Amino acid sequence: MKKSFSLLFISLLALFVISCNQSEQQSDSNTESPVLTSTKVKTVMTKQMQDALTPDAALKDLLEGNQRYVSGNMENRDLNAQISATTNGQFPKAVILACIDSRVPVEYIFDQGVGDVFVARVAGNIEDKDLLGSMEYGVAVAGSKVLMVMGHENCGAVKSAIKQVDVGSINVDNLLAQIEPAIQNVEGERNYKDKAYFDHVIKENVSQTIADIRKNSHILSNLEKEGKVKIVGAYYSLTDGKVTLLDEHNHDHGHSHDHDHKH
Ligand SMILES: [Zn+2]
Repeated sequence: MKKSFSLLFISLLALFVISCNQSEQQSDSNTESPVLTSTKVKTVMTKQMQDALTPDAALKDLLEGNQRYVSGNMENRDLNAQISATTNGQFPKAVILACIDSRVPVEYIFDQGVGDVFVARVAGNIEDKDLLGSMEYGVAVAGSKVLMVMGHENCGAVKSAIKQVDVGSINVDNLLAQIEPAIQNVEGERNYKDKAYFDHVIKENVSQTIADIRKNSHILSNLEKEGKVKIVGAYYSLTDGKVTLLDEHNHDHGHSHDHDHKH
């Protein structure tokens, strides 16, 4: 029994090695075609590129990537080359906190390659201690210039919170409780079928997450005040793939505080 198992294992291993060689040969023959390789993007973010990037330029880069995504003109990337080029380090331009929704593929949406962005995903794009730690790492340690919180159209987590669904799980209850303050902040009947109301709660939930980030992470809010990172809210449309930046209605810093300290 044992013997036949190891025999099977060895033959599987041999098969694997053979098929790997075959695919290697195939990709080798592909790289011989100059037409295919000449248009492929191989470059990745370097320390110099990250240092030179301002928060505004990083945000512009993301939005331009979204335009390419929407218009179907995404960059043709040599992902294998990018994998090799990023093995020993990463200098991403942004941290994006988004929902786990399968229709919100963050790298695709912003047309970004390997090593370009940190992506944190959780149902309903809420924040908690672990996510804050991840975002602080991405910005304060790894040097990202933009921190984006992105909600999306027809979000199931927000819908469940509005509907007050009970699936008998304390974990789901905890998650939905994080979205509840946004619902409380939006006037109107608690009805997800009202598209305007639903969208309003989705956007308010993004604002709420950003307010929580500023309140609960002094590191991030200080870096924002110093202009080293831009914290922005965004809304992703499932209808057309477009990302829209959200206005900072009640959180615009500078106006609400009359004691602006200069160092
Ligand atoms: Zn969602």
